[in-house]
Amino acid sequence: MKIVLASRNKKKKAELQVLLSQYIEGIEILSLDDVGIYGEIEEDGETYEENALIKARVAASSGYIGVGDDSGLSVDALGGAPGVYSARYAGEHGDDEANNRLLLENLKNIEDRTARFVCTIACVFPEGDGRADKIVRGEVKGKNIDEYRGDGGFGYDPIFYYPPFDKTLAEIPADMKNSVSHRGHAIKKLAEKLLERK
Ligand code: IMP
Repeated sequence: MKIVLASRNKKKKAELQVLLSQYIEGIEILSLDDVGIYGEIEEDGETYEENALIKARVAASSGYIGVGDDSGLSVDALGGAPGVYSARYAGEHGDDEANNRLLLENLKNIEDRTARFVCTIACVFPEGDGRADKIVRGEVKGKNIDEYRGDGGFGYDPIFYYPPFDKTLAEIPADMKNSVSHRGHAIKKLAEKLLERK
């Protein structure tokens, strides 16, 4: 089975290849570059689901099964922010340090630190009329802490405390994170949807 991931990020492609191979023997992940789809995709949806679907549709225009994902951090006391704006919360896309600083500033004097990482993955089948398309969602619940802990992971991981491990997601190895993470859960559900169709 071949699927096209709506991304040009080689690390993301490699990670999905490893994780999906656990469930689907012989699966091959292609990137947009691999199938000759160039240009930026405008992620202008208001929800994780909308953005994932926008991306998956572009990938499916290749003629293969298209997969698109959107992830972020949703903080309860901030009404779900930063949400779909997680990567550019402080303005510049991908400035993790500034994003973390702004988040902790916005959480000053707020007691309820409950937050969750969300990963949504959409899967679009090229020949379909949309009715067969699938969207899955994985979540991991934790708390934002004021202190930065650990140097693994990325993004908001150093300030995301996961109570069952008594650690932040930056303090644990990648395979341990995958076993409980929003992305790990969503990819497992994606594999189930792909296998249902086989
Ligand atoms: P993406 O949709 O996977 O590119 O994620 C968008 C943004 O959400 C990232 O730039 C991070 O700020 C945040 N994010 C998503 N997943 C994680 C995670 O596993 N750890 C930390 N931050 C994450």
